[in-house]
Amino acid sequence: MPQKLFGGCACGAVRYECYTDPLVMLNCHCRDCQQASGSAYAAIVAVPKPAVQIRGKLHHHKIVGQTGRATERGFCPSCGSPITITSERRPDVVGLQAASLDDPSTYKPVMDVFISSAQPWDNMDPKLQKHTHGYPDPREGSNRRRDPMTPHQIDLVQSSFAKVAPIADAAAVLFYERLFEIAPEVRPLFHGDLERSPINLYHIRRP
Ligand SMILES: [Zn+2]
Ligand SMILES: [Zn+2]
Repeated sequence: MPQKLFGGCACGAVRYECYTDPLVMLNCHCRDCQQASGSAYAAIVAVPKPAVQIRGKLHHHKIVGQTGRATERGFCPSCGSPITITSERRPDVVGLQAASLDDPSTYKPVMDVFISSAQPWDNMDPKLQKHTHGYPDPREGSNRRRDPMTPHQIDLVQSSFAKVAPIADAAAVLFYERLFEIAPEVRPLFHGDLERSPINLYHIRRP
């Protein structure tokens, strides 16, 4: 059963309903979303455009956003509540402003996008995926530069290294034993006294 999403503006002149599961929920920190929302970011529920039925008349404001393509924002002309966002980049998708949902507690963002323009007073959840720019469009292939690790991921790497550091010698022995067990053919690549080798790729003999 697809999810039912109901919502509307603050004065009730605009109402919408949508019978579908959201494609993605994300927090957009671009300057345009900041200005249009009057806050640190826009919380957006992206759904397939044909699944949304809107009653009442939205007014639209169109700009060319940070992606270089046009973005159009729909808002209630009476009370000004932002309701929709559509992009030339994905004309088949409409973003519903999460706070316009009748039950905004169903909003569960999975990523922060355009964090390059996030405000210093914006406390982002470190557990969410981070994208420096826009939402990576799966149709645009995988030639994108990888985004840097999130602070949460960096913490995980640093804390697991910190746990291994006091037993580095023993950990190195375990590491090499296991490595040679699963890949005995790499043994000749290593030289020196393994007990004294930290887990260190510089110990791989270069051809
Ligand atoms: Zn309204
Ligand atoms: Zn935005």
